[in-house]
Amino acid sequence: MKQFNHAADTIKLDAGIRKILSATNSEISVHFPVKMDDGTIEVFNGYRVQHNNALGPYKGGLRFHPAVDIDTARALAIWMTWKSALAGLPYGGGKGGVSIDPQAYSKSELERITRRFTYALGENIGPDVDIPAPDVNTNPQIMAWIADTFASTKSPSTRMLNLHVVTGKPIGSGGLKGRDRATGFGVVASIKSWAKLKGVDLLNKTFIVQGFGNVGYWASHFMTELGAKLIAVQDASGTIYNESGIDSEQLHDYVSINNGDVYGYEGAKQLENNSFFKVECDIVIPAALSNQITSENADEIKASLIAEGANGPIDTEGEKILLAKGVDIIPDILCNAGGVTGSYYEWLQNKRSENYNIDTVLEMIEEKLSVAFSKTVESARKYKTDWRTGAYCVALERIQQTYQERGVFP
Ligand code: GLU
Repeated sequence: MKQFNHAADTIKLDAGIRKILSATNSEISVHFPVKMDDGTIEVFNGYRVQHNNALGPYKGGLRFHPAVDIDTARALAIWMTWKSALAGLPYGGGKGGVSIDPQAYSKSELERITRRFTYALGENIGPDVDIPAPDVNTNPQIMAWIADTFASTKSPSTRMLNLHVVTGKPIGSGGLKGRDRATGFGVVASIKSWAKLKGVDLLNKTFIVQGFGNVGYWASHFMTELGAKLIAVQDASGTIYNESGIDSEQLHDYVSINNGDVYGYEGAKQLENNSFFKVECDIVIPAALSNQITSENADEIKASLIAEGANGPIDTEGEKILLAKGVDIIPDILCNAGGVTGSYYEWLQNKRSENYNIDTVLEMIEEKLSVAFSKTVESARKYKTDWRTGAYCVALERIQQTYQERGVFP
């Protein structure tokens, strides 16, 4: 809300629209029972917050993580509204999830948790209502269960019409070729736009990545393709460092047989966790959870760019310190918008019963992000402000225009 209010002041947002956008439209909280493998019953807490749908159906991921609660879902839903608006997509913002550690459950338990959660959400989601997608700890398999449950609980004649209730599905179930890499690809597309703007050659530039899930891995993959060098990775299991470079593909193979963890990878040495942001490098890519860079550690960062793969990785105090030091920040709502942009093409391909090829998908994502990058930089120049505020201003102006044209019912 601090970020929103600052941007709203900057563009002198209409007072009524500010009131509308300061609240979420609806907040759904469900408690649902699931039968465990041993026959006992557990009750789980699930959430879906729908912030705003002025531009189109609510859109945003579902995360399965112990830290998911209504406040987290609310903040993440609000960010989705700005992200979709900035990327020029016909969507509003939503977010949700289940408060669980998915590693603590078997595959069949996870399937029942997912299906029962989908059932509990009922008509609150739908292809033209609210369209979930993957986020932290959720994946194409989980999306396929959501699609199947949603469709199976509707009339059999409309089954195929409901496939696009969710995006990020596996390819065989209507998924988009390239959706798996869309967010990481988008992070690197934004870094390329930054490099072009600043006249920086990315060849041999060093970078560090926090989180080696879908976003962190693919961002490392595409950075490596450009000739940049990955030198440190941190995840919940630990921190690894190798000055002469960490092979992102080898690390990815290791992580996939090591429970998703980077800890113990032999191609690098282990570092203390609190040394991660101190690592001397050119670019930092936080691609894990929120509030990782704060007033406690912002000063330690020596890089010239932070590209926010995660949602909200820098808190407002941390950001002040970084901006004062002259560090460039590509804000989350721009930097990680490749994911939701990929989702938009998946939704379109389902609606049109088409299949896009991967090159077309990546080209379309890069094009949309490069337009959003230019608009952000222009807006920051116009309002003499930082890029995050610039990005918010673009998003808010688009939403404001819609409200001004349509008015408020009745
Ligand atoms: N969870 C992703 C995000 O935070 C993707 C959302 C989507 O594809 O709808 O942007």
